[in-house]
Amino acid sequence: MKHYNITFCRFWVVLLFGFCSITSAALGQERLKPVVVTSIKPLAIIAKSALQDSATVEFIMPPALSPHDYVLKLSDIRKLASADAVFWIGPEFEIRAAKQLIAIPEKKRLTALNILNMSADGALKDNHDSQLTDNHHENGVDPHIWLSPVLANQLAAKLLSHFGLPVKEIFSSANRKALEDLLAPVKNKSYIVHHQGIGHFIDEFKLNPALSIRDMLGKQQGAKTQYNLRLEGEKNAVSCVFIEPQHGDKDAKAIAKDLSIPTTSIDILAVASGDQLPSYESYINGLAKQFINCFQ
Ligand SMILES: [Zn+2]
Repeated sequence: MKHYNITFCRFWVVLLFGFCSITSAALGQERLKPVVVTSIKPLAIIAKSALQDSATVEFIMPPALSPHDYVLKLSDIRKLASADAVFWIGPEFEIRAAKQLIAIPEKKRLTALNILNMSADGALKDNHDSQLTDNHHENGVDPHIWLSPVLANQLAAKLLSHFGLPVKEIFSSANRKALEDLLAPVKNKSYIVHHQGIGHFIDEFKLNPALSIRDMLGKQQGAKTQYNLRLEGEKNAVSCVFIEPQHGDKDAKAIAKDLSIPTTSIDILAVASGDQLPSYESYINGLAKQFINCFQ
């Protein structure tokens, strides 16, 4: 009996020790990698393209919902609290989540609009804005900054230097040249967007500015604006109405019907790729293809 007891104890000691060492090894490996939590999926795409395997990258806002209206859940707040770095656009964009995001300690909070010197105090006043006169955001800043590969490269550089990694581009000049060639035939075509969200993409690839159904934050506009939009659409011979998955499509379909033109999807929050994070280049290349779809 005594013999049995000793063997039995040894068995447990070995088992426990083994279990503890496996667990600590696994945890140790996890801990080696910093966790970056972003608000929206496109920022996770930028972070992952920059940091690759040197960080774990997650996003909290479901891409099928409008980030302008998303209210953080308790589980989101916990995720933000345990992250090593939090990457978001800024209070002008994640409007209903801004309070909790601003409360995150400064040393681990990376605010894209601040990094780019574009925050609400009006630092950005360049010719980016002069093309888009209608429906413009009150402070003149278009917060959908991830759609500009130039700005995305700047954000990637900041993330890399934050973690002490060598700076590299996530969108190459070769890729830019390929997209410029691809978009050249549709450069002067007219179209309507559901909300004024793709301004940076339009500016960067020198496309025709959009007519827009809703304002920059996805809010409905008055009947007069809607009426003028139909008149402008007729005058400019628009080719299609772009629909964004997270903004609903009732008003877009009504305008498309009135103008006898098709609707087509432009997936700026990358809903279609679900939980997967494509590379930033393939994400932007995908948007360019979706843009061209309008004119075929
Ligand atoms: Zn938006």
